[in-house]
Amino acid sequence: MIQLNNITKSYQTGSESIDVLRGIDLTISDGEFCAIMGPSGSGKSTLMNIIGCLDKPTSGDYLLQNENVSDYKEMELAKVRNESIGFVFQQFQLLPRLTARKNVELPMIYAGVKKKEREDRALEALQKVGLEDRKDHLPSALSGGQKQRVAIARSLVNNPKLLLADEPTGALDTKTSESIMDIFTMLNKEGSTIILVTHEQEVADYASTRIMVRDGLVVTESAKGAAQ
Ligand code: ADP
Ligand code: MG
Repeated sequence: MIQLNNITKSYQTGSESIDVLRGIDLTISDGEFCAIMGPSGSGKSTLMNIIGCLDKPTSGDYLLQNENVSDYKEMELAKVRNESIGFVFQQFQLLPRLTARKNVELPMIYAGVKKKEREDRALEALQKVGLEDRKDHLPSALSGGQKQRVAIARSLVNNPKLLLADEPTGALDTKTSESIMDIFTMLNKEGSTIILVTHEQEVADYASTRIMVRDGLVVTESAKGAAQ
């Protein structure tokens, strides 16, 4: 599903250039559940942003479902993002003035889905994460775990094949994290390819493959149960 060949990313700030990714090679298969670990500042979010077509690599090739998206223009990337990728973030990124259901409807508005279908599909997605009884609540009236479940429901509504989650449990306590990881596990069993960034080993243990990023390079890859 995903193939990264010698991906680099440099940021230019003023006269300084920093090389954040220094040659990432990575293959992720359809249906895989992959955890990306690594120290703070090692380039995990930068890598996720490239995989999610939110940002472009400085050099290297990115093949997503056999299409080379490295040279796509912003318009084309936006289409890929909206149609094929679901995003979940540490700080949930819900719009505070919209109810849970309206937040979940947003990606469908961008995709041009009609109102009635939007409402039905939003409700269905909220049911999937066990939150249909909170559909009319504003984010401020939801717990952290509930907010993240709304964000997961939102990430699902356009039926993306690929789900990206950057530290999705980073703002949650252990017990709540477990319930969120149970949802990701269920989605993976149903066929979603999931890539998740975490610095918590217990969270990474839910994934079937793990990679470690350090100083902008993939330093180890391990399958579940393999020696660390
Ligand atoms: P991680 O998610 O592993 O903590 P990041 O990918 O967020 O790491 O950041 C890696 C490095 O790139 C850090 O040194 C960070 O300061 C730098 N960086 C990230 N985004 C930008 C940006 N937009 N402009 C300049 N530097 C950035
Ligand atoms: Mg990060």
